[in-house]
Formats: sequence, C-alpha cells, structure tokens
Amino acid sequence: MTKGRAKEYQDACTEARVLYIRAGGGSFTKLLDIIQNMDTGTLNQGQDLPPSDVERENGKLTMPKRRTRSSLVKELDRWFSKWIRLQGAQGGFNRCFTCGTRKAWQQLDCGHFQSRAKYSTRWEPDNCKPQCKRCNMSNGGQQYVFGVRLNELEEGLADKMVQISNELRKFSNHELEDMINDYRARVKAILDK
Ligand SMILES: [Zn+2]
Repeated sequence: MTKGRAKEYQDACTEARVLYIRAGGGSFTKLLDIIQNMDTGTLNQGQDLPPSDVERENGKLTMPKRRTRSSLVKELDRWFSKWIRLQGAQGGFNRCFTCGTRKAWQQLDCGHFQSRAKYSTRWEPDNCKPQCKRCNMSNGGQQYVFGVRLNELEEGLADKMVQISNELRKFSNHELEDMINDYRARVKAILDK
C-alpha cells in the first residue's frame, strides 16, 4: 500500500467510526451498512469532524485527534504571518510595506493586498507584506499604496494578485497541514539562526 493510499484508508476508517458513533453504535451489520454507504470521495474535501461531540455522546469511545478546518486555517495564518513579517527583517526589526515605519517584527501585522477572505491569495507571499497596525487598519490596509509598491517590486504584480484572488481555490486539510509544517520549519530556521 502506498503512503497516500494508507492515509486514505486510515481516513476512511476514522470517518466510518465517526458515523457509527454518531448513529449511536449498535450492531456490526449497521457498521457494515455505514461503510457501504460511505461517500469516500468527500473525505478529501476538508470536511470538519467535531470529535468532541462524539466524545460527549459516548464516554467510552474516544476519537483519534483530528484537527478541525478552522483550527488548521488559524494555525497556518499564524505561521505564515510570522514568516511574512520576518522577510527582510534585520536585527529583529522590519519596515511597514506601505509607510516605511520601522518596528520590531512582532509588532507588525501581516498585511494583505487582496483581502484574507479570498483564499486563493490568503497565503500568497506576493499578496502579503509586513505592515504597521496603523496602515493595516486604514483605507482597506492602504490598498492603493500597497498596489503601487507591489508594482515597484515587479511590473503588473498588483494586477496579477487581483486576478489570482478572483480564482476559486480550495485547499484540502492535507494541503493546509503541509503548508503549516512548511512555514513552521521556515520560521524556526530563521529564528534559530
Ligand atoms: Zn505603515
């Protein structure tokens, strides 16, 4: 069994277990019915499974820890933001992309040119720069100046970001986990230097 298949199999088992517990447990035949009716195609679409609910319903059965989508998004935001704010930092200080104010990197925000609500550019490095809180909170994160600065870095970059931001992009939970591991490692490598 390949690694990918093994993971898929493991996920399917977890899913079956959740459905079985949710259905109140019962006979082995019922479990088989659940497995046969399972839509395994939905497994990789990033569904949220609330293991805590299952634990409350049945004290004896505990679910393997499975991260909810919102907690994955939150954690990826956290590591990605650190990485962005550390880009170009010197001696622990960095500059606001839109006004140039120099601050300790921890005091800066990770500013987005196209809103964080757009997932296709939410973790796009070219769309995100260190920004002081004042700029990030005013005029839509000083979006106009942000765009001008992006184009100074690379002609047409602002338009490119607008274009990508309007594309629909869905990240699976596995992709989010991979990105978390990647950005966490990058941040640690910078901070351990
Ligand atoms: Zn600023």
